[in-house]
Amino acid sequence: GKAEAELDSKKLGRRLVFFPVPLQGHINPVIQLANVFHSKGFSITIIHTEFNSLDQSKYPDFTFHLIPDGLLEHEVSTSDVTVLLAKLNINCANPLRQCLDRLLQDKGEPVACLITDTIWYFTQELADSFNLPRIAFRTTSICSFLAFYSLPIFRKLGYLPKQDSQLEVEVPEFPPLRVKDIPAIKSRDPENVFSLISCMMEKTKAASGLIFNSFEELEQQELTKVGEEFRIPTFAIGPLHKYFPASSSSLMEQDRSAICWLDKQAPKSVIYVSFGSIAEMDETQLSEVAWGIANSLQPFLWVVRPGLVQNSSGLENLLPNGFLEAVNGRGYIVNWAPQQEVLAHPAVGAFWTHSGWNSTLESICEGVPMICSPFFGDQLVNSRFANDVWKIGLRLEEGLKKGEIERAIKRLMDEKESEEIRMRVSSYKEKINACVKEGGSSHQSVQSFIDYILSI
Ligand code: UDP
Repeated sequence: GKAEAELDSKKLGRRLVFFPVPLQGHINPVIQLANVFHSKGFSITIIHTEFNSLDQSKYPDFTFHLIPDGLLEHEVSTSDVTVLLAKLNINCANPLRQCLDRLLQDKGEPVACLITDTIWYFTQELADSFNLPRIAFRTTSICSFLAFYSLPIFRKLGYLPKQDSQLEVEVPEFPPLRVKDIPAIKSRDPENVFSLISCMMEKTKAASGLIFNSFEELEQQELTKVGEEFRIPTFAIGPLHKYFPASSSSLMEQDRSAICWLDKQAPKSVIYVSFGSIAEMDETQLSEVAWGIANSLQPFLWVVRPGLVQNSSGLENLLPNGFLEAVNGRGYIVNWAPQQEVLAHPAVGAFWTHSGWNSTLESICEGVPMICSPFFGDQLVNSRFANDVWKIGLRLEEGLKKGEIERAIKRLMDEKESEEIRMRVSSYKEKINACVKEGGSSHQSVQSFIDYILSI
């Protein structure tokens, strides 16, 4: 049809090769990014791993190559995510080299560059050996990237490892972070975390460019700072799901009955609760979450993902005694929700999130204010910025405690008390709508990236 003819006339005769990190929060923005560039006339190849492999049938426009990741059965777990990522950085090196080798010998369109997650530090040397430009893609916020970059300094200054008595102390070198917000990641091998981050930063500096799924109007200062520190062309082109939705790349089936349930609720009455695809809590924390929700007396839609509580034997046994009676049909629980659609639904008034970056951007895009409960890594920084800098969310400062949860939900759902937060998040929503349009900052950055990549 017409759209195809239009796309045909745009064909650039150049291919972009992507290699996503096989985690939900990383796959979604890569698929979106690939879609953006496909719509601009690039051919797209996606190399993916057996672990969390993609369903190729969903993307008929892309070419796929599956490579082995060498993970043993007991290693396939996100419970210690840095150990998993370090292992993948080693295991994938040879298979990716062989795959690229074949691909580059192909007589098809020339490959313009390799676009890989900053976490895939091993791909820099590999790309160099093929004389192929590598573009690093950071799927999370610029502020958290800078905080990760500062980890060695934080360690030198004695903030790490974190001491219980220091958690609330402010970090003057990185306002408005407090010690507890430093993006540490729990691991059975803490040294591994530092080495992963330092490899990631070193190899990013050697890349030909750096793309962020963020936008200038939100992180102007941070973008400038990254430019100064990394001295490579840097592009903020998000939020990417404004161009293409994340739902197509969901690894788990999204339960659409959530939308039917929302249809029956009053406007802005529901608190949506989800902690993303990796965060884990224990049964005591789950009980605090449940009672916080119940005691708030608000209607709720709650995602309890399999694995949210490790080794749990199903939802029935997880929910504390008396919870279902207490909420008395006021809420709805699903395994996995069509999140973007949920956030866009008129019945949703607030989002209690783990402050994963995709979730944060999806919430801002729909003008939904947040309650922020970070678990680890970038979430710690995102939630501090949401609370202190952008002022579009309430960070729970006590961890998961039913009293604070109840108060936060009541405050955010109260029209008067949440008026200012709502105004600010609405204003960011408008800024986003403008920045992805012709002439807007992210729209322009997409174009400058294309010009740049065609020029090297
Ligand atoms: N998501 C979803 N259904 C859910 C919960 C999350 O589709 O019930 C999607 C969400 O829209 C987002 C992604 O999963 O795009 C989670 O990414 P995020 O960066 O927020 O967190 P992570 O899972 O990486 O911790």
